[in-house]
Amino acid sequence: MRLIHSVAEMALARSEVERPLGLVPTMGALHEGHLSLVRRARSENASVVVTIFVNPTQFGPSEDLAAYPRDPDRDLALLEAEGADVVFMPPPKEVYPAGYDTWVSVERTSEPLEGASRPGHFLGVATVVCKLFNMVRPDRAYFGQKDAQQLQVIRRLNSDLNFDVKINAMPTVREPDGLAMSSRNAYLSPDQRRAAPVVYAALQAAQELYADGARQASAVREAMQRVLASEPLAQPEYVSIADPGTLAELELIDGPALASLAVRIGTTRLIDNVVLGTDERSLP
Ligand code: AMP
Repeated sequence: MRLIHSVAEMALARSEVERPLGLVPTMGALHEGHLSLVRRARSENASVVVTIFVNPTQFGPSEDLAAYPRDPDRDLALLEAEGADVVFMPPPKEVYPAGYDTWVSVERTSEPLEGASRPGHFLGVATVVCKLFNMVRPDRAYFGQKDAQQLQVIRRLNSDLNFDVKINAMPTVREPDGLAMSSRNAYLSPDQRRAAPVVYAALQAAQELYADGARQASAVREAMQRVLASEPLAQPEYVSIADPGTLAELELIDGPALASLAVRIGTTRLIDNVVLGTDERSLP
């Protein structure tokens, strides 16, 4: 496994490795969710590049950039065991050198949900993903359905800017109690960790109501809110039933629907989602 820190060395490596090349972008502090992407990339490509980059431009001024968990030695050992060929771990000034001045804005897809709660977040995400696509030039790239809006932003920029990368979405990997795996789960105190499965419980309530025939989005949102209200440590930020493609809020669920939510537990912000009405892997 090659460890690369510079853009120039990455450019050389991408021309030397066998194709097809699969890319797995991450911010490190790897868990089974990340590793599921690496395994899929390994099974489908001759070469696998994993990037570890805590992208400063996708964090707001009052967010957790400085505190974001980092454990490069452990990450590298995990990636070696999964058979990654290249780990690209650039320092911030390699990605954003002095004078950096170009931003990629995916407009409407970035507006609701996470975009509304975290102004500028998707500008940072879209910009860094474009840069990673250009630096690595993958044939395929692997992302988690856990970050459903991010996935839509990336599908949009990939098509709008003609990158022609095959985007693959992988299902959310969960802890045994349902909590979606996330590097940020490390912030939770034991009490908060015990409360955190309420996030997935709210999504399960949505799935149950949908399975019972409910099609009014407001009724499903209210059921999710009721579950969250049962946990005093959980402060909901938004609860959404939206079109999985446009992310517009629905009144009537008459096709696949994305049930998603953001919840604060203490200072930790957790997001999760499920797709109602279809297998999430069959989404466009
Ligand atoms: P991050 O390091 O949080 O930026 O995540 C890197 C990639 O891993 C993104 O495509 C995420 O959607 C994906 N990912 C994060 N958590 C999970 C999870 N629990 N299950 C599946 N994929 C995940």
